[in-house]
Amino acid sequence: MPIEITPIGHIKTPYKEKFAIPRQPGLVTAAFGQIMFTQAFNSVDFIRGIEQFSHLWLVFQFHQTADKSTSPLVRPPRLGGNEKVGVFASRSTHRPNNLGISAVRLEKVSSISGQHCLIVSGMDLLDNTPIIDIKPYIPYSDSIADAAAGYAQDKPEELLAVRFSKSAQQQLTIYQHKYPHLNILIEQILSQDPRPAYHKTTTSDRLYGVALYDLNIQWRVAEHCCIVEQINQI
Ligand code: SAM
Repeated sequence: MPIEITPIGHIKTPYKEKFAIPRQPGLVTAAFGQIMFTQAFNSVDFIRGIEQFSHLWLVFQFHQTADKSTSPLVRPPRLGGNEKVGVFASRSTHRPNNLGISAVRLEKVSSISGQHCLIVSGMDLLDNTPIIDIKPYIPYSDSIADAAAGYAQDKPEELLAVRFSKSAQQQLTIYQHKYPHLNILIEQILSQDPRPAYHKTTTSDRLYGVALYDLNIQWRVAEHCCIVEQINQI
């Protein structure tokens, strides 16, 4: 029988497009987001006691890919994009019911003009992702020290050193008034080398763009170094 689910809210994040979002939470700790509750869940009672927990599980919908069909086999980027595994042996966005889970840090519980909001960090979610449920992260049960994780055992390495061109440095000083963690955010995102796997094997001077907040960050890769060329308002 189909199940009907109503989101409890949505999350506002710096990530305006899927490209360059980290593949799991905790990789980009300088990404801060706000969980905003819908009217039906905008009561302090729903979050009473939540500040005792440093981390939360978010259950959410991969809303931007929800209309795409799913296949039993997927190609995890960690396997270079060529090898296939079953969708249930992966954290692919393309999956039955389009549900995702992410453990994030709870930074602050906030309330502005009657709108309750949770400030979280380290999430791997697109801006406006619908949140379906929130649960406290419980270390004694959720953290399993000797767990085997096959092709995803280790945290991905930081692959690229990140440098800012002179003009990007000047632009940073302007935008950091509004976004104080912008330089670290850009560094953490780009050090993961978000280029598609098939671009990484060729040497090219290609200019990439990534949308963070209302900014377009333009960068290129040269000899294992990522150079941020420009930061401009969209
Ligand atoms: N931690 C989650 C999990 O395991 O369920 C997500 C893993 S999934 C590989 C992470 C990727 O999902 C991100 O890199 C981004 O490209 C994509 N993504 C994030 N939010 C999304 C959304 N609302 N709709 C579609 N794709 C999204």
